[in-house]
Amino acid sequence: MIPGARLILLGRQGAGKGTQCVRLSRHFVVPHISTGDMLRAAVREGTDLGRMAKKVMDDGGLVGDDIMIGLVRERLSHHDAKGRGYILDGFPRTVLQAQVLDEISAEQRIDLVLDLDVPRELVLARLSARRVCRDCGTNYVASGVEKLPWICEVCGGDVMHRDDDTPEAIEHRLDLYEQQTAPLIEFYQSQSRLAVIDGVGSPEAVFRLLAAAVDAAR
Ligand code: AMP
Repeated sequence: MIPGARLILLGRQGAGKGTQCVRLSRHFVVPHISTGDMLRAAVREGTDLGRMAKKVMDDGGLVGDDIMIGLVRERLSHHDAKGRGYILDGFPRTVLQAQVLDEISAEQRIDLVLDLDVPRELVLARLSARRVCRDCGTNYVASGVEKLPWICEVCGGDVMHRDDDTPEAIEHRLDLYEQQTAPLIEFYQSQSRLAVIDGVGSPEAVFRLLAAAVDAAR
């Protein structure tokens, strides 16, 4: 069996992180831990966290570090994250989150941080056509001629337009990415833990680059 891995996938929203994380998680047989999916589940369940997070997410903002760190700390304590590893999608998004993640994962260090590099103009175009399965998180690209309701091929769930994929929220998220998340590239590069992957090609080609980078790092 392929050995597991502890991975982080960074990149602008719309760079294809979600799709690539699903593939990497199947390939390396490790759980895909998406903080965005965790927050969306809380929104669906109508919890206090969900109500607070919905407003922040719809505006394209970032949920507070303390809340996000608490969520990830708890998730990484589960049995499935202690064994073969995991792939983190959407976390860390700030330098503070990255610093605390190093403490949380001190006993089982992250093997590699992958930065999926896609220019801002391209992600803007991709995000406006993005649709996502509400249940399993599989991403799709809308062509405008889909039969509705759109049913996910993977799990049979509903394929939706995300509430936070409005033009204003997208611009705000991309600005926040440059201010808060892009510094993580330097943070991990200076520790020689980063592989920058060109995310512009086909999903298959990008996946091959990602998997090769993980194999080369182990
Ligand atoms: P994503 O599915 O990763 O694009 O995340 C959707 C939204 O959830 C983001 O735009 C943020 O509002 C929120 N979010 C997810 N992960 C984090 C995080 N690590 N820190 C702060 N906010 C987050």
